[in-house]
Amino acid sequence: VAKTDGKRTWRLYRDELHQEMIRRLEMRSALNEAVPGEQMRLRYQPIVDLPTGEVVGLEALVRWQHPARGLLGPNEFIELSEENGSVVAIGGWVLREALRTFVNWHSSPAGASLRYMSVNVSARQFRTPGFVDQVREVLAETGARPEWLLLEITESLVLHDADQVWADLRELRGMGIRIAIDDFGTGYSSLSYLSQMPVDVLKIDKSFIDDILHSTQQMALVETIVSLARTLELAVVAEGIELDGHRQALVGMGCPYGQGYLFSKPVTADEIHQLLAGTTTPR
Ligand code: C2E
Ligand code: MG
Ligand code: MG
Ligand code: MG
Repeated sequence: VAKTDGKRTWRLYRDELHQEMIRRLEMRSALNEAVPGEQMRLRYQPIVDLPTGEVVGLEALVRWQHPARGLLGPNEFIELSEENGSVVAIGGWVLREALRTFVNWHSSPAGASLRYMSVNVSARQFRTPGFVDQVREVLAETGARPEWLLLEITESLVLHDADQVWADLRELRGMGIRIAIDDFGTGYSSLSYLSQMPVDVLKIDKSFIDDILHSTQQMALVETIVSLARTLELAVVAEGIELDGHRQALVGMGCPYGQGYLFSKPVTADEIHQLLAGTTTPR
């Protein structure tokens, strides 16, 4: 009996593997069609000034309206799109769409107090030759000022391929664009490295915020990152704030900015428009 069971388990496993391979192959080829087929969407999550609750910025978060599978989150396709290179087209679309939308909001009375749009850039996209030129073109095309753009990159991008990446980061910052390290704390940057990195903002990963109310150790860790950022004259944003207790603790340790479900989930452009109209005073 055990033997037949083993065989059946193996067959099930083999079939699942097969299904998974087919799914990935399908997704890969479908991803190449996503931008030309106008299947990409953006959601926006407010970034708030923690002491006042004022919305200061927005993070653009990509979604894929898959023809058969519905609305997919980035965790379901960004890795695949990095593998097949479609992330370059997707990233270009995200940048253009996010800035176009921001310029619209910024020129409306309700959005006049918005300071910036935060855009995630994948490592492969950043390393593609011509990325800096593409950013310059999109700014010119949309009429967005460089100060309105914050590019979120990962710690590992800054740690590897240092020369070209650092040169590009310096060029972008020279244009007036700001750079954030996303998911800070999950990588391996050393203190000495961090102090030299051509970046402006640290975004503390959600995993650090999750436990601050239950673990004095986590609390101390986040406090350390916040004071480190202050020492290095970097701005700091706490991600994944879900509870008012999180907000209070972060305000208490002097963390200036945050984002999370407590304030808003990522929502559509229309919903942001309504949110802004309701919370900011028209000029
Ligand atoms: P991220 O840049 O760290 O973005 C934050 C993620 O955490 C988002 O997930 C957001 O919806 C989620 N989040 C925000 N606040 C909370 C909270 O309070 N609780 C919980 N549980 N989650 C919260 P999302 O939209 O699924 O994006 C996942 C990741 O995909 C992003 O992490 C980012 O690394 C990547 N991504 C998103 N958009 C893009 C894009 O346009 N290009 C590239 N290359 N990557 C993107
Ligand atoms: Mg991000
Ligand atoms: Mg993040
Ligand atoms: Mg994160």
